[in-house]
Amino acid sequence: MERHRAQMAAFVLAMSILRVAHGWGIDGHYTICKIAESRLTGAAADAVKQLLPESAEDLASVCAWADRVKFRYRWSSELHYINTPDNLCKYQYSRDCKDDNGEKGRCVAGAINNYTSQLLDYGSNSIRAAYNLTEALMFLSHFMGDIHQPLHVGFTSDRGANTIDVRWYTQKQVLHHVWDNNIIETAEERYYSSNVDGLVDAIQQNITNEWADQVKDWETCSSTKPPCPDTYASESITAACQWAYEGVSEGSVLKDAYFLSRLPTVHLRLAKGGVRLAATLNRIFK
Ligand SMILES: [Zn+2]
Repeated sequence: MERHRAQMAAFVLAMSILRVAHGWGIDGHYTICKIAESRLTGAAADAVKQLLPESAEDLASVCAWADRVKFRYRWSSELHYINTPDNLCKYQYSRDCKDDNGEKGRCVAGAINNYTSQLLDYGSNSIRAAYNLTEALMFLSHFMGDIHQPLHVGFTSDRGANTIDVRWYTQKQVLHHVWDNNIIETAEERYYSSNVDGLVDAIQQNITNEWADQVKDWETCSSTKPPCPDTYASESITAACQWAYEGVSEGSVLKDAYFLSRLPTVHLRLAKGGVRLAATLNRIFK
């Protein structure tokens, strides 16, 4: 009985975390960070180990941390996404990367640049090393995931499809949540015995087989900076228009036709997020 109650408490806690989650749900972030961890150089793996909180067993276990601190760190809640002009299907840093008050640079792309530059101080004695690099690592790893969720670079008036009510099979949902959680959860239930590690393995296999000749391109940044968030954000709004918003309106019922045609995009975005997080950390800690 005691044990049952503890399990229920854990379940309720997990559900409440899922409900407030913005950005990929827990499993999406876990998948991206697991993929990234398997691709780190020795130097990057050492730095990550040094910076992780003592209680954390690996990077993947703290990749949803940024969603849990949104209320404690209120300033961070607008750093998880970008609002772009309605129906334009294009992103531009100078126009779109701002918060609700219009403050420039306060969006997920700006946050990725900011935490990258903080982490570049790792190992230096400069006064700026006063930054909390543990938190910088956890924010960067989370935001590299969020920027790959197509609806995190969505339209302004529907707040990244957070105001579009749909049904996921029989369940009431908003479209944003379908992309954060439901597509991933349905795939896990159907194909991976409800196990996130099965999903991680399947994506890893695609990276080494099907997508092997694309991976170099994913890793490369045209600029000299370690990550290139503007590229990732542009891809996301394109995918949002082509796949997430496409054919959906208020009250749409989304079933197999939607699930099966969108799942490849979800797999690809998770794969790119993981590969690019690793490439970024490898460039930061070289
Ligand atoms: Zn997030």
